[in-house]
Amino acid sequence: MLKKIKVKNPIVEIDGDEMARVIWHLIKEKLIAPFVDIDIRYFDLGIKHRDKTDDKVTTEAANAIVEAGVGVKCATITPNKDRVKEYNLKQQWKSPNGTIRSILDGTVFRKPIIIKNIPPAVRNWKKPIIIGRHAYGDIYKSVELVVDRPGSAEIVFTPGDGSGKKVLKIHDFKGPGVVMGMHNTESSIRSFAKACINYALSEKLDLWFSAKDTISKQYHGFFRDVFSEEIEKAGKELKTKGINYRYLLIDDAVAQVIKSEGGMLWACMNYDGDVMSDMVATGFGSLGLMTSVLVSPEGKYEFEAAHGTVVRHYYEHIKGNPTSTNSTASIFAWTGALAKRGELDNTPEIISFASMLEKSVIETVEKGIMTKDLMLIANPPVLKFALTEEFIDAVAARLKKSFFA
Ligand code: NAP
Ligand code: MG
Repeated sequence: MLKKIKVKNPIVEIDGDEMARVIWHLIKEKLIAPFVDIDIRYFDLGIKHRDKTDDKVTTEAANAIVEAGVGVKCATITPNKDRVKEYNLKQQWKSPNGTIRSILDGTVFRKPIIIKNIPPAVRNWKKPIIIGRHAYGDIYKSVELVVDRPGSAEIVFTPGDGSGKKVLKIHDFKGPGVVMGMHNTESSIRSFAKACINYALSEKLDLWFSAKDTISKQYHGFFRDVFSEEIEKAGKELKTKGINYRYLLIDDAVAQVIKSEGGMLWACMNYDGDVMSDMVATGFGSLGLMTSVLVSPEGKYEFEAAHGTVVRHYYEHIKGNPTSTNSTASIFAWTGALAKRGELDNTPEIISFASMLEKSVIETVEKGIMTKDLMLIANPPVLKFALTEEFIDAVAARLKKSFFA
């Protein structure tokens, strides 16, 4: 038995919920722990533990990423009313991802994993479409109110310097309805733009930014203006690298993306990025093939799979039924974190291990061993799908061969 490779600095590990948690532990046990020795800072964000700590553990985990620089996260439940009942929670805790994103003030980049025998649903897509999602504010940091009687809703801005208040009428309610107040900050939008420009430069991708400034002239217009200011500042560098920038209306962008062959970074406002990344992920094959990384302006990284806790599979799992859940994106969350650690620590052996593991996953699928989500779309067709654990075991066998070669 060869010695494990030592990872120099700590990685923050954030555990999660349901089927995602089941595969998370299999990945650690079979693909990570036997090969690398990591100083893990572990935080359990499983819903019961968040509830027990009054969600303090989420803030602690985010702060640990700020300190360590690199984190890796399992999918977690964002409770709605049904979940509060299901897990008997003290309250409907906020989205842990939302909390972590606001502490890191980051941009989320979502990139599909392309595998030869998994053709995209959109025939003309040939290269990855990467979604850059602004991960601060808008509806994810909003206040909302259900209006239960007639009355008037207003936006009030009270300047910190004691100068005059600004009041803006939203609506005169004649009966019940809803209101929402949301915000964003210039500095966050600017770092979003910068993060996207840096990503486009480093990956040599064209950069698209979309919003709806024809309708939201102030809010979306502000985003468009800040974005183009940053583009102008980076103009020379973008030009030298042959990177084109386009501003598009969101609805036009959707149409253009579908018609394209891919190969661009599509910068999206928070909600658009949430929705479009699932559309793009599914278009490329499966949510199980979409990776996600949160990058803060200070260069802190959190890697995760883009999918959720895969609850339908989990309900089968706890009934004792076999499942076929794709662990690819969760494995790539680990390889992303390891490779970033290796880059920051200047330990190339860690980067090599990460790419060896990624290669093992891709080759396993290319040899026809894959979970059901991929089997349904594989070309050439595959007759049999692997169960959750069978797939991970097949990857482990391949990895062992390369590792000990
Ligand atoms: P989901 O867990 O992503 O699953 C939606 C469906 O997509 C699944 O039922 C499954 O389809 C397919 N799928 C997703 N990941 C897959 C995988 N790895 N392998 C195979 N199939 C996969 O989304 P959801 O059901 O909307 O949300 C479930 C929970 O996850 C919610 O509580 C939500 O709050 C949470 N969530 C967390 C995160 C996060 O932590 N980053 C993100 C999104 C959602 P079939 O059922 O057709 O097989
Ligand atoms: Mg989402």
